[in-house]
Amino acid sequence: MTVGYHRYFTHGSFKANRPLRIALAVAGGLAAQGSVIAWVADHRRHHAFSDREGDPHSPWLFGTSARALAKGFWHAHMGWLFERDVTNSERFAPDLLADRDIRTVDRLFIPLTVVSVALPGVLGGLITMSWWGAVTAFFWGGLVRIAFLHHVTWSVNSICHMVGSRPFTSRDKAANFWPLALLSMGESWHNSHHADPTGARHGVLRGQLDISARVIWIFEKFGWATNVRWPKPERLAAKRTAAAR
Ligand SMILES: [Zn+2]
Ligand SMILES: [Zn+2]
Repeated sequence: MTVGYHRYFTHGSFKANRPLRIALAVAGGLAAQGSVIAWVADHRRHHAFSDREGDPHSPWLFGTSARALAKGFWHAHMGWLFERDVTNSERFAPDLLADRDIRTVDRLFIPLTVVSVALPGVLGGLITMSWWGAVTAFFWGGLVRIAFLHHVTWSVNSICHMVGSRPFTSRDKAANFWPLALLSMGESWHNSHHADPTGARHGVLRGQLDISARVIWIFEKFGWATNVRWPKPERLAAKRTAAAR
């Protein structure tokens, strides 16, 4: 999700060779968060209208009273999925629509989800040769894993647009929330990300853990990823807020 759907497909923070590109699309599909083209279109719309009318999941659309913020938190976290207006992929993801490989993986989203939910249970059953092994593996490796990752991703949309520090100027309320850095694999450095969306590293300041950036670095060492957009000190300095300088 973080390296593929988000940093690569949505923001083009590096170039991937064909096998990596397909593998990242499949891996993202297995997270069961939506087909690659729909996910990317939604997320590009989020950046285009960030925390303004048109953002599919901003917590700031209802006002700033305690009640409005509670409603906004719920909407940004998962409520938006139930009342959603479908994002126009032709407008927001024409590059992916034009790619045959990606269109194919996109169409396979439902089968990929079925595999992702069912495979742990099948493996658990086969490895232990018991129904109990199948049921517990299905529960933990299928349901809990998927639900847990969804909440981490949703927390970036909700918590990281409400709480945290804002060392960089961005047009929205995106914030860096350190407690989620490890679980979100670096995605919770969300203020830095909105300030410089195409950057391959979101944890750009000293000591900011960003596992996804390290994964991209490994892809680069293998030669699978090229043109990686690593942070440039002068670009970062220009975006620091006066208070953080
Ligand atoms: Zn955001
Ligand atoms: Zn983004």
